[in-house]
Amino acid sequence: VRKPWIGGNWKCNGTRASVEALITSLNAATLPAPEAADIVISPPYLFLETVQARIRPEVHVAAQDCNAKGMGAYTGSISAEMLHEFGINTVILGHSERRDIFHETSEEVALKCKKALSLGLDIVPCIGEHREERLSGRTNEICFAQLAALAAQITDWSHVVVAYEPVWAIGTGLVATPAQAQETHAALRGWFREHVSAEVANTIRIVYGGSVSGANSAELARCPDVDGFLVGGASLKPEFAAICQNMA
Ligand code: 13P
Repeated sequence: VRKPWIGGNWKCNGTRASVEALITSLNAATLPAPEAADIVISPPYLFLETVQARIRPEVHVAAQDCNAKGMGAYTGSISAEMLHEFGINTVILGHSERRDIFHETSEEVALKCKKALSLGLDIVPCIGEHREERLSGRTNEICFAQLAALAAQITDWSHVVVAYEPVWAIGTGLVATPAQAQETHAALRGWFREHVSAEVANTIRIVYGGSVSGANSAELARCPDVDGFLVGGASLKPEFAAICQNMA
């Protein structure tokens, strides 16, 4: 059985005061036991150290990106080495906002994944189709191409959680139906069975992201191939604890 994984992607949100309030709220919340679920929150870089120091120890802290290069003349970026030194053991990579707004290609995302894995970090690469791609029946084709780019750089999948985030569902309130999520997650697992191995297909955690809420998470959690969530907007609210409880 795959251990549920629930991530909170705070994106570019937070003030000192709001981060303080969120930490206080999460520290007081009822959350699944660490044996029952992996819970990871991902604040902007500037807040990583504060959150890491103040959050209850069973909640892990992730960065939202790192570069593929390492240290050096890469103005504006953060290296995986820095995350490692600061004890940040997980990094989200290739979120659709990175791909669409900051023009990251699947190949660049894969190189970031390789670099982060080389430093011993756990990675959460994100994949997913746009609305018009789903409407034209290309969901699997798009997602499989994104996975194939990752597979060109990743050999050990034991430190990888794949986030399936259909772009049309992100921040729109248009959550995928449980049937849509299950169908695509099963297809992704099938891709791993065919192109990587049966063992990786059976063990890799594939989590859903896109307008997950306290209200819709219980139903999605029952999908056999949905192993958790990557939560955006609702991860900034006390509702995040309810989502974690619904998944565990
Ligand atoms: P929302 O939950 O706000 O739709 O965002 C999902 C997401 O992009 C998580 O990475």
